Amino acid sequence: MTASAPDLIEPVVGFRKWRLVRDRLSSPFIPLRWEEAEVHAECFPANRTLLFGKGWLDEPHRAPHPDCKCGIYAYHRPPSRGPIPYLDRITGIVALWGKIEVHRDGMRAEHARIGALAYLADLGRDHERRVRYIADGLGVDVIEQSELALAAQGYGKRLPAEMIP
Ligand SMILES: [Zn+2]
Repeated sequence: MTASAPDLIEPVVGFRKWRLVRDRLSSPFIPLRWEEAEVHAECFPANRTLLFGKGWLDEPHRAPHPDCKCGIYAYHRPPSRGPIPYLDRITGIVALWGKIEVHRDGMRAEHARIGALAYLADLGRDHERRVRYIADGLGVDVIEQSELALAAQGYGKRLPAEMIP
């Protein structure tokens, strides 16, 4: 189920996971590198191939499209830690704006900017240093993962509850 939100000028805040590839952030499911703090959604034909084409629109369109799977994904709430923390995963806060498709667990946005990256204190000093190094390169803040929810208000508004299907 999806609800189309009008174009948002004021950023809303969301939470994301990335995969760490050496000292770079990558989207977890597609090989999209986040070289800069700000990214803009595009519906790449390659993504359809990678994800077996199911649920992706064929004709060119502005991303995200309600009938497609494109857009920059974010959750409404901080992702849970899970029983085993993965060294190659990293969470953070993003501000989202432009066209936004709202789903129950999260949303797909046209534009996103990383506000903060989170390290997990349990993973030790080397992990924290690595996260700080990446955040410095991107020019974004660093927080501990338990601070995600509280820190989020500094980067945008929460999407109003009535907009979440
Ligand atoms: Zn698309």
